[in-house]
Amino acid sequence: MGIEIIKAKCTGCGLCLNECPVEAIRLVEGCAAIDEDVCTLCTACVSVCPYHAIRFEMPHMETPDLSAYQGVWVFAEQCRGSLHRVSFELLGEGRKLADARDTFLAAVLFGDGVTSLADELIARGADRVYLLDDPKVADFRDDLYGTALAALAAQQKPEIILAGATPVGRAFIPRVAAELRTGLTADCTELHIDAAGHLAQTRPAFGGNIMATIVTRRHRPQMATVRYKVMREAEAQAGRSGEVIAVSVPERSLVSRVKVVESIVREGIGVNLVDADIIVSGGGGLGNPENFALIQDLADALGGAVGATRSAVDKGWIDYANQIGQTGKTVCPKLYVAVGISGAIQHIVGMKTSEKLLAINRDPHAPIFRLADYGLVGDLFDILPKLTADIRRLRAAGRNPAEAFTS
Ligand code: FAD
Repeated sequence: MGIEIIKAKCTGCGLCLNECPVEAIRLVEGCAAIDEDVCTLCTACVSVCPYHAIRFEMPHMETPDLSAYQGVWVFAEQCRGSLHRVSFELLGEGRKLADARDTFLAAVLFGDGVTSLADELIARGADRVYLLDDPKVADFRDDLYGTALAALAAQQKPEIILAGATPVGRAFIPRVAAELRTGLTADCTELHIDAAGHLAQTRPAFGGNIMATIVTRRHRPQMATVRYKVMREAEAQAGRSGEVIAVSVPERSLVSRVKVVESIVREGIGVNLVDADIIVSGGGGLGNPENFALIQDLADALGGAVGATRSAVDKGWIDYANQIGQTGKTVCPKLYVAVGISGAIQHIVGMKTSEKLLAINRDPHAPIFRLADYGLVGDLFDILPKLTADIRRLRAAGRNPAEAFTS
C-alpha cells in the first residue's frame, strides 16, 4: 500500500531523485529511499524508473455513508449588512439541485447583526437559514470563516455546499474542503445532478479549450464555487416561509490569525462592468484603439459601460479591466451590444446570460449571430455613428431607446 522501493531491482541510478518535485528521495547505501513524511504520492518517480523498482498502490480509502449527508447549502456572502447578489444566483441554482435530490435548500449566513437578511434568503428560495450572528464573525477572514463553516458542515453533514467564485469564496472555500477532506471544483459555470445522483460540476479546463465535468463520487460534501453572473438569480417570492436556525460552532473554530484594524470602502471608479445594465463591447473589427471612441460614444448614449474582447485587449487597444470572457469578466446585462466581435466561445462564456444581445458585424456568418436577438449586418463604421446619433436624438425627445431592446 502506498509507495515502495523494490531494493532487489534498484540500481541506485538516481533518476528518481531528479524527478521528485518535493525532494523526498535520497540514496542510502546505493539504493533509493523515500521519506514518506515528505512524499506526496505524485508517482512521478514510478514512471521514470527504467528498472520498475518503484511500486505504487493506491491507498485504500473508506467511503463514507453517503446517505448520512443531506441538504444543499449555499454560502450567503454579505458585506456590511448587504447580501452579495451571487448569493441569489446560488439560491436559484441550489433550488434546482435540491429539488432534483428531493432535499432541502439551506443558506448559511455569517456576520454580526445580520439576522434581518435571513428573510430575503428565505424569500429567494432557502428552506432554512443557518445563522451564525456573532461579533467574532463580523469581518471576513479566510481562516476564521473556513474553520467555522467546516465545523458547521461537520456537525450537519450537507450533501452539497456552493459558494460564489468571488474573492471571498475563492479565499476561504478551499480551506473548508481541505478540512472536510473532500473535493472542490472551483469556478464552475454549470451544475446539475447526474444519473447516479452526484453533483456534476462543469468548468473550463486546459486554458478553456475544453469544458470538464467533475464529480465527487466517494466524498461528501460535494463542493463547488460558482462564477458570478453565470446563473440566473432566484426571484424573491413574497410570503415564502422558512426556518431560521441560530447555530454555534466551538470557540476554537472562531479564532483568526488576522486582526482587522480598519476597513475602508473604495469609492466607485467609473461604471462597474459587472453590474452594468447595458454594455457595448468592441472587438477586433474596430481595427485600432482610436476607434474605441465609437464604442464609448454608443455606450454613453445608451447610459452603459464599455467592454471588449481579448483580441482588442491583447492588441493594447483597451485595458484588461474591460475584457469580457473566460479570462476576463463575466457579465449579465439587460442589453449587450457586440460590435465587430466574431463570437468565439471564450468570449461567449462571459456574456451568454445577457438578457438581450444586439450584434453588429459585416460577416453574416459570424457565430455571434447564432446567439443574437437582434443583428445588424454591415460595416460598423457606417452603422455606429448613425445608431448613436439616432439614440441621442430619441433621448433628447425624452424617450429611452434602450427600452426598445430590453422590453
Ligand atoms: P476576431 O475573431 O478577429 O473577430 C473580429 C470580427 O469583427 C469578425 O467577425 C469580423 O467579421 C468583424 N469585423 C471586422 N471588421 C468589421 C467591420 N468593419 N464592421 C463590422 N464587423 C467587422 N476572448 C475573449 O473575448 N475573452 C476572453 O476572456 C478570452 N479568453 C481566452 C482564453 C483562451 C485560453 C483562449 C485560447 C482564447 C481566449 N479568447 C478570449 C480569445 C478568443 O478565442 C477569440 O480569439 C476572441 O474572442 C476574438 O475576438 P474578436 O471577436 O474581437 O476578434
